[in-house]
Amino acid sequence: MAHVVLKNVSKVYEGNVVAVQDVNLEINDKEFVVLVGPSGCGKTTTLRMIAGLEEITTGEIMIDGVVVNNKPPKDRDIAMVFQNYALYPHMTVADNMAFGLKLRHFPPEEIKKRVNEAAQILGLTEYLNRKPKALSGGQRQRVAIGRAIVRKPKVYLFDEPLSNLDAKLRVQMRAELIKIHARMKTTSVYVTHDQIEAMTMGDKIVVMNNKLVQQIGTPLEVYNNPVNKFVAGFIGSPPMNFLDCTVKDSNGALWLDFNEFQLKIPSQFADKARSYVGREVTFGVRPEDIYDRSMYQGSIDSNTALANVEIVERLGAEEFVYFATNGGYSFIAKYDPQVNVHMGDTNREVIFDLNRSHLFDKETEMAIY
Ligand code: ATP
Repeated sequence: MAHVVLKNVSKVYEGNVVAVQDVNLEINDKEFVVLVGPSGCGKTTTLRMIAGLEEITTGEIMIDGVVVNNKPPKDRDIAMVFQNYALYPHMTVADNMAFGLKLRHFPPEEIKKRVNEAAQILGLTEYLNRKPKALSGGQRQRVAIGRAIVRKPKVYLFDEPLSNLDAKLRVQMRAELIKIHARMKTTSVYVTHDQIEAMTMGDKIVVMNNKLVQQIGTPLEVYNNPVNKFVAGFIGSPPMNFLDCTVKDSNGALWLDFNEFQLKIPSQFADKARSYVGREVTFGVRPEDIYDRSMYQGSIDSNTALANVEIVERLGAEEFVYFATNGGYSFIAKYDPQVNVHMGDTNREVIFDLNRSHLFDKETEMAIY
């Protein structure tokens, strides 16, 4: 059992540097929670406060109902895996993995059993007698994970553990960590700036920006219903397109007016948008929700615009098409490679799936729908 709760947790460093402000977060037993956000948003500080490596300025951290604010790291039953692996270069893989258990005076037989088990899970059995310098980056990272696994802690904390690996290995290790978690079901908190890691690994993701938690939810909740423009733009690649426009009322029906084209607000969103009539707002649409006329299955009803093709990035399985309208709007669409689209095409008809679109308050940047 491990249930971690952060209640109004803040961290102010010397010199009045606020690193984390008023974080409230509940991490349930067996859950894999990912803290994600841009550099400097306070993720690592949050993780280090859970580990006990950083004092909390205000608020409370509880593990299984017990306030741990003043408990030293060694008494929190937590294992942390760092970005730089932090292996001892003069020790073998087996000794690196055993080190924490030796410190805690585990019997040698038990240490051996746990190291062998972890090595098997991580595919390190044949490397147990090697020193870290004779391992690849991916193998070293596995040893660092092994060192955490042998402890059988209540909670794992991961601080960007894959960021030193090349892209291919990162994808592989990501899948391995998911498998390990499915097998061990240990409560885990994982910090990353990579939204793809967050989306693929987290049972729950916590999006942070500028010292504050912006949104907490399952990956799909956050993807489909971002609470504000920051979350909408941070999660998803290529990012959501944002286009400024004005809400207009025409005989009761609501429209988004972009001057050169108009889009009709779907009836299910009209109530939410009504108080914005006459005001500027920001329309949000993901690249995969923009279609070429030839590929669109739905009805064409006040959901189209004409745009010129500036660049086409052909990735094989999909294509990113960079559009610009004559009036100066730019957006990216993700097209099927079967669409016959070329750089320099003019006045192509694009279709927005308005049922999947978003609208944001231009001043507060909060989602209207
Ligand atoms: P990154 O992804 O770059 O590691 P992060 O989201 O993990 O970023 P933190 O390392 O938690 O961010 O830092 C949050 C803020 O606190 C930053 O503005 C940082 O400069 C500041 N900060 C971190 N550690 C200290 C410190 N020891 N003293 C003063 N300020 C600090």
